Order: sequence, then C-alpha cells, then structure tokens
Amino acid sequence: MSPSTQELPPIVEFRDVEKTFAAGTPKAYTALKGLSFRVDDLPGVGEFISVVGPSGCGKSTILNLIQGFDDVYPPTSGDVLVRGKPVIGPGRDRGMVFQRYSSFPHRTVLRNVTFGLEIHRKELGLNRSTMDDMAMQWINKVGLGGHERKYPHQLSGGQQQRVAIARSLVLKPRILLMDEPFSALDEPTRYEMQRLITQLWHEIEATVFIVTHSISEAVFLGDRVWMISHAPGHIARQFDDLVPPTHDEDPLLVQQSDDFKTSVGIVAKAFHDVESQR
Ligand code: ADP
Repeated sequence: MSPSTQELPPIVEFRDVEKTFAAGTPKAYTALKGLSFRVDDLPGVGEFISVVGPSGCGKSTILNLIQGFDDVYPPTSGDVLVRGKPVIGPGRDRGMVFQRYSSFPHRTVLRNVTFGLEIHRKELGLNRSTMDDMAMQWINKVGLGGHERKYPHQLSGGQQQRVAIARSLVLKPRILLMDEPFSALDEPTRYEMQRLITQLWHEIEATVFIVTHSISEAVFLGDRVWMISHAPGHIARQFDDLVPPTHDEDPLLVQQSDDFKTSVGIVAKAFHDVESQR
C-alpha cells in the first residue's frame, strides 16, 4: 500500500451492516447482514468492483445505502461510511446509473446532462454557458455529439444509457454506482458500452461499483468481483486475481480468450455453489 493510500480514509467502508426492511412488522425482511468491507481510495486510479449474486440477495441495497437513498438508508445497524464519514444522503460525490433509462422525458439530451449542474449551480459557481459547455464536453465524450437537442424517446436504448452516464460523469463523482446498467441492451450494444465505460473510467479515476447479472461482464470490468450470498447477503467470495486488468483491450476480443473463459468458469462455479446454498 503506498503512503498516500494509507493517509486517506477508505472511499467506502461498511462495518457490520444489517438492513432489515419493514423491521418490527410481520413483513420484516433482512436483505443484508454482517456485511463488512473497505475499498481504499486509490488516487489517480480508482477501482472497479463488480457485484454479482442471486436475485434478491441485496446487491441493489448495497448501492442504495452508499448513495444514501432515503427509502433504504440508514442501515438497521452498522455503519456505512464514505470517505470516513457516515452517509447523510445523496451527494454529488456519488453518481448513479440504473438499468432503466432514467432520463427526464421532457428535457433534451443537453438539459438532461445539465440537470445535476443546475441543482449544484450555486455551490459550483456556474453560469448557463459554462454549464452548457461542460455538458457538451460530456455529450461528445459519450459519443452523442449532434444529438444534444433530441429528446430521450428519439434515442435508442444504448444512446439513452449514454445520456445517463454523461449526466452522472459531468459532476465528476468520486464514486460511480451502476445498477445493471447494460442489462436491457442487446449484446453488440453491451460491448460498446463496456468499451465506453472503461475508456471514460480512465478520465474520471473514480471508484466504480457495478451490479450485473452477467458473469463475463463482471470479470471483464472488475478489478474485484464480489459474490454476494443469498439474503441476508454478505460477501460469500471475493475474486481479485482472476485475469490481468483488461480495461484497455477490446471487450469482444478479451472475452474470447481462453484465460478469460477460465476465469468466468471459476466465478460461474462459485455462483452455482452460492445458488445451491439457498
Ligand atoms: P438484488 O439487487 O440482489 O436483486 P435488492 O437489493 O434489490 O436485491 O433487494 C433485496 C431484497 O430486499 C428483495 O427481497 C427486495 O424485495 C427487498 N427490498 C429492496 N428494497 C426494498 C425497499 N425499499 N422496501 C422493502 N423491501 C425492499
């Protein structure tokens, strides 16, 4: 660990977190229990963490706790810390991209991307033309230049996810939370998006958590892959030495290599083991 890493608090830390929905009622449901982890802030690098596990095991709940969404936050017990401090609600240091296209239907692409800037305009000291310039830079980076005056319904699914990514990244979050962001896309578009997100990740140097049901996507994108157990969820297995980092390579080519397929096989076997422990 480098000295600079030691000085910084972890970017995200969970200490013995439990989340029980509807606690104290007959409908009480414990989604997470005994969940502890720490992810260090790697300056100038960031880290990509893939979260996989059976449906309903609490993967989205983990992201929602980090984000501080008030229908999930706070945890029933334990601590959720971001940069050493308890989360108090959503903030612009954390961006979120969901599976379903979450753009505002009545705003153009440009106005969708300026939305977060408009909310934080005073604290960021931005005027309209600066906001438009910043938004246009990100619209170009995600490959949507020329589409900025269109409305979401005029875009394909992949393009709509590009808007969602630009909307998050324009705020330069330190943490990017992605909840099955590419699940609704066809396979070629999914590869395109994997390529895009790895390219952009170099620029933002953020810590990324991605929930995915695709084991090959988890292995391709993740520096670490966490396998969450059945609810109440905790980290049943962690893989951090599966394949050498492949972020700069073409996802389609990487995913055809024998090494890659072996890694996917290892995680798939662990998934099967976790599934059978229901
Ligand atoms: P996953 O992402 O692994 O599929 P989730 O984290 O979405 O799982 O959900 C875990 C469990 O917690 C599910 O059974 C879900 O119904 C329940 N749950 C999630 N969010 C809420 C909520 N806001 N209120 C009540 N129950 C919830």
